[in-house]
Amino acid sequence: MFFGQFSIEPVDGAPPLEKVCGRCSNIAPHVLVDQPCGIAVGIPFLRRPFWSSHRGYFLACPICGQLNEISHDAAQAMIRKGKPESQGAP
Ligand SMILES: [Zn+2]
Repeated sequence: MFFGQFSIEPVDGAPPLEKVCGRCSNIAPHVLVDQPCGIAVGIPFLRRPFWSSHRGYFLACPICGQLNEISHDAAQAMIRKGKPESQGAP
């Protein structure tokens, strides 16, 4: 799978969700991805970047690349489904 034009990362552990794409109307295993919504703020005297806004969760269509935003709760439920054995809180 290649999302060349998007800077998105599939969420580790979340299984693909078979659904109809709202854009291309194909039934495809949509991949759960997350990406920062809004502006990332780097503070020079901190070593790591500080994210000022929340991360958004999206279902990415593997055929046309459409990103459909889903709620945080729905995303967390998908991630939990992919992890039957608890590996600790993120
Ligand atoms: Zn699509």
